[in-house]
Amino acid sequence: MKNRLDSNNITLAIQKKGRLTQYSIDLLEKAGLVIDTDGQKLYAKCRNFPLDIVFIRDEDIPYLVETGVVDIGIVGNNVVVEINALVDTRLPLDFGYCRLVIAVQNDSSVSSIRDLNNKKIATSYPRLVSQYLQKKKISVEIIQLNGSVELSPALNIASAIADLTSTGSTLAISDLRIIETLFESQAVLISQKKINNNKKQRLIDNLVFRFQAAQNAQKYKYIMMNAPQDKLKQIITMVPGLKSPTVTPLTTKGWVSIQTAIQEDAFWEKIQKLKQIGASGIIALPIEKLIT
Ligand code: ATP
Repeated sequence: MKNRLDSNNITLAIQKKGRLTQYSIDLLEKAGLVIDTDGQKLYAKCRNFPLDIVFIRDEDIPYLVETGVVDIGIVGNNVVVEINALVDTRLPLDFGYCRLVIAVQNDSSVSSIRDLNNKKIATSYPRLVSQYLQKKKISVEIIQLNGSVELSPALNIASAIADLTSTGSTLAISDLRIIETLFESQAVLISQKKINNNKKQRLIDNLVFRFQAAQNAQKYKYIMMNAPQDKLKQIITMVPGLKSPTVTPLTTKGWVSIQTAIQEDAFWEKIQKLKQIGASGIIALPIEKLIT
């Protein structure tokens, strides 16, 4: 595969098959990158940016970035920290949210992590777990498993598990209850610590900039509305936009048209208030890119 990679391009590693794969591809597309992938999802080329993409198991990505085999990678921060990879985290990516938790069987007598002293705990994240428990001065025997961790209490392998969860539903199905959260994670963009090639460094900075613009765009909506002129001050205070809204007079006397950006989080709450104040004909549009 190496000879299929162009040495003038930067190489990005993304998860081959799993929870982060589609999100990673979507992020590239939202950043305006057009990807041609091979049928087997081993390797892809970007048509409009000097970027090659390789599809790798997520736990191998930090090492490949650290050693410079690839230039950048998208991976869960939990994996980066567990491996203790010497890489730079360039950008949190706002997807792949999950937390590493300790859970015990519903009918267990364990009610807090202190009850786990001198007990066994099964996990795929031995480093994160032992560091956390050491800090709390709790001594456990860690049983390292690479999958199906949630079965270990039922199989009498361990009294507790430490595993990743997002909704908690897999734990609940396995009759487990959470007693502690050890680590909060999301996907991150990582790069090698020391990049000696200036051209590559510029390309990476350029990509980070594009990803940020795509992320910002998702956080805002563009809105247009008509409003009585005498409510303008009140509306501007409520939806100030990035600097200040664009205001144009309407041919109907005493009315203006207002264009502004509004944060997605506060969208419905603000729209309802704008309507109460007297705004009408409110149109909301998605933003494709937002450079602040
Ligand atoms: P691979 O098969 O590539 O070695 P994996 O089996 O750990 O890896 P996934 O289960 O797809 O792969 O998880 C990939 C990443 O997704 C995790 O490392 C974590 O950062 C994130 N993630 C988000 N939600 C969850 C969840 N509920 N359970 C596990 N991982 C999650």
